[in-house]
Amino acid sequence: PERSRDISAGSPRLQEVQRQLQSLAHGRCLDMVSRVFHGMPGRKARVSSGLTGSSSDLSPARARLVLHFGSYNYSGLNGHPRVLAAAGAALKRFGTTTSGVRLLNGTCELHVELERSLADFLGVEDCITYSSGYMANVSVLSTVCCEGDAVLSDVLNHRSLADGLRLSGARLLPFQHRDSRSLEAALAELPRSQRKFIVTDGIFSMDGDIADLPDLVRLARAYNAYIVLDDAHATAALGPLGRGTPAHFGLEDEVDLLTGSLSKGLPGIGGFAAGPKATIDLLRFGSCGYIFSASLPPPVIAGLIEALRILREEPERQERLHHNERFLRAGIQGLGLDCMDSASPIIPIRMPSIPTTVEMARLLQDEGIYINPVGYPAVSRNKPRLRLNVSANLEQEDLERCLEALEHCGRRLGVLSRDA
Ligand code: PMP
Repeated sequence: PERSRDISAGSPRLQEVQRQLQSLAHGRCLDMVSRVFHGMPGRKARVSSGLTGSSSDLSPARARLVLHFGSYNYSGLNGHPRVLAAAGAALKRFGTTTSGVRLLNGTCELHVELERSLADFLGVEDCITYSSGYMANVSVLSTVCCEGDAVLSDVLNHRSLADGLRLSGARLLPFQHRDSRSLEAALAELPRSQRKFIVTDGIFSMDGDIADLPDLVRLARAYNAYIVLDDAHATAALGPLGRGTPAHFGLEDEVDLLTGSLSKGLPGIGGFAAGPKATIDLLRFGSCGYIFSASLPPPVIAGLIEALRILREEPERQERLHHNERFLRAGIQGLGLDCMDSASPIIPIRMPSIPTTVEMARLLQDEGIYINPVGYPAVSRNKPRLRLNVSANLEQEDLERCLEALEHCGRRLGVLSRDA
């Protein structure tokens, strides 16, 4: 056959990616961004170095057993026996896929049941599901917001919201992170008759801080704006029973449209939008990600329906999550480390540089503690960090072990300000 041409040659994006890879290789960081997990991750996991190692590195026998402080499994429901049983039964009954899109042959009874359960759980009229949280945000914003609208968006909002907004054709007006003054200044410039949307994450995924929803509601009322809130990291991780950011503040009726993920606090894959029936109908018959993409696989949906039942039955699961989060954050701060404004199960720890961040993650892994190192482009260049994700399934001794390891590794690298 004719040799295919390399369509990446000459792409400015390729050059950018190559520069990033070179800098990772130069800093001996590649192994830490290509780790491979073996078996079912939960409170503990087995991890090995991936892409850059020899193929034998991928043998599970060479994997390291670690306590998992890097998973979005906030509620600890991934691998729950009831979730696995429900998914297994659905696998036998429905198979691995619907082989279709929702509006044609892709809706089975489980899709309808999941959307009803989610709407009920979140206390809204209706709900629509998508094949990822990313797809939910792109679909929602590109459908609900139109040319001529103004969209006020927190600068630290997730990439999927920005991508949806670009597709919408609406005018984007970024406001400073969680800064009401910056938001109000932008709102005050706009004509009252113009449609306006305030768009925000609930929990910010890299900083772990929470949107000031009461203040956003005050401004939305004063300037006649709608609120769209992305609760990807807060669903099943914040508020009573894990009902998310609006419930955390008791402001469920003030958010006009809520989006979220089904792969973080909830143990599946997919995303959703939840709100009034008329808006959800618009999305069902007008949003690209729903119309032009295959529906969620039935075993995943069955697991999610069961997970929602467990969340309702076990309020103590959320209490454990918040105990774990508070204990760990206080301990980390006690070591003289900077957790920024974290107030959620996402706990960043500021580090002085990328090489130190990665070296710290490597030392921690050697001590049996898995924590993700994060740098540019996920966060700004001058704010590299370790980023812990806390789960309800971690036990007290795990938290104490983690703090010991942070102290030990932090001291070796000289990053504990207490040592200064
Ligand atoms: N919103 C936020 C705030 C996120 O952090 C993420 C993913 N990490 C998403 C949306 C996308 O969700 P998903 O992974 O389900 O596509």
